[in-house]
Amino acid sequence: MGKVIAVSNQKGGVGKTTSSVNLSACLAYLNYKVLLVDIDPQGNATSGVGVNKADMDQCIYNVLVEDLSAKKVCVPTSVANLDVIPATIQLSGAEIELVPTISREVRLKKALEPVVDQYDFVIIDCPPSLGLLTINALTASDSVLIPVQCEYYALEGLSQLLNTIRLVQKHLNKQLMIEGVLLTMLDARTNLGIQVIDEVKKYFQDKVYQSVIPRNVRLGEAPSHGEPIILYDPKSRGAEVYLDLAKEVIANGERIRERN
Ligand code: ADP
Ligand code: MG
Repeated sequence: MGKVIAVSNQKGGVGKTTSSVNLSACLAYLNYKVLLVDIDPQGNATSGVGVNKADMDQCIYNVLVEDLSAKKVCVPTSVANLDVIPATIQLSGAEIELVPTISREVRLKKALEPVVDQYDFVIIDCPPSLGLLTINALTASDSVLIPVQCEYYALEGLSQLLNTIRLVQKHLNKQLMIEGVLLTMLDARTNLGIQVIDEVKKYFQDKVYQSVIPRNVRLGEAPSHGEPIILYDPKSRGAEVYLDLAKEVIANGERIRERN
């Protein structure tokens, strides 16, 4: 049974999409079968794995709003073992269109059920909000990975996210866990970064990944080439650290399996 992980933080620009794309690609590189699900109308995860949004007549919108099967919109990417369910700008209507529909919070969960078994990991790239799309992602997931940018006010807004997670646990998905907190865009030349790491660790303790993503020019460039970092520049620091993160995510999963 594949593990479903939502990558979520309602703040924009904290590294959700970069982390979704590169964690997915690194897990695939390590020979796991991975499905990346893009539920951000911006569709940056879709283009980040080399899928041209302009060529898509159907996307996750049709799955969520029109009950199209997830399998029908799933496409292979340039990375072996990695498929994507794309998002296009059409999805921007879904947040409102879903409001009057039946079981609007569980649509993604239901849609993914028939495909989850075919993968080891399903990674969902969430939009920068705590609206219905994010609620769908949290309801469909086993756990949430929270990217936190190493900057002032890093923890600001996280209480709303944690509160939303608690509400989803209470009403929609009892099993939902925090997968881990990922520190992103660390600028090692400043003391600020180190202070933020300390502060986040004080708050989230052992939930914080050892792997800390540095600010890395190659990571910023890769999306414009439609390639995850592991293809674009496998020797870069960005590639090394996302590979380390993938190994931590795999090890965490194994630890939980052993405990149960
Ligand atoms: P989000 O999905 O949370 O909005 P993104 O992953 O899109 O955030 O990142 C925001 C911007 O920062 C993008 O232009 C991305 O390419 C860039 N970026 C993300 N992580 C890094 C990094 N570690 N080093 C350099 N640039 C990064
Ligand atoms: Mg994004």
